[in-house]
Amino acid sequence: MKNKTLMDEAFDASEWSDDLHTKVGAVIVYNGMNRGIYYNEYIGSTLNKAGRMDRPAKYNFMAHAEESAILNTLRCEGDLDGYELYVTHIPCPTCARLIVQSGIARVVCAMQRTSTSDVDEPITRSILSECGVEFVEYEKPLV
Ligand SMILES: [Zn+2]
Repeated sequence: MKNKTLMDEAFDASEWSDDLHTKVGAVIVYNGMNRGIYYNEYIGSTLNKAGRMDRPAKYNFMAHAEESAILNTLRCEGDLDGYELYVTHIPCPTCARLIVQSGIARVVCAMQRTSTSDVDEPITRSILSECGVEFVEYEKPLV
C-alpha cells in the first residue's frame, strides 16, 4: 500500500467540499507534518439554503479552503511563520494576500483551475513572488 502524499490528502479533502461545482482541498504543513486539512465550505453555521449554491450568491457564504486553513490554524497555533500550504487549485488573489500576511513561506499547488483562474493566476503569482512566498507547481511523483 502506497503512502499518501500531502497532495493526496488535499485531493481527499476536496471531495468533502460543500460546493458542487468547484471542489478545492488544502493541507497546512509545518516541518513536513500535516497540521490540518481543509476544503471550501459554508462559513460558520450558514446552511445550504436555496439559492446559495450557485454563483454569485455562493461567494458570500462559502469560505475558500485556503481561508479556512489559514484562519483556523492561526486560531490554534498562533502564527504561520514558515508553514507550507498544499492546495489543489490556484489560489485567488484574496487567498494570496492571506498567505502573505499570515507568514506562510511556501505554496505547493496542483494547478487545478477554477472559473476565475485565467484572471486570478497572474495576480496571485505576482503577489506571492513579490512578497517572497515560494510557489511550486506540484508534479505527481512517479509510482
Ligand atoms: Zn481564495
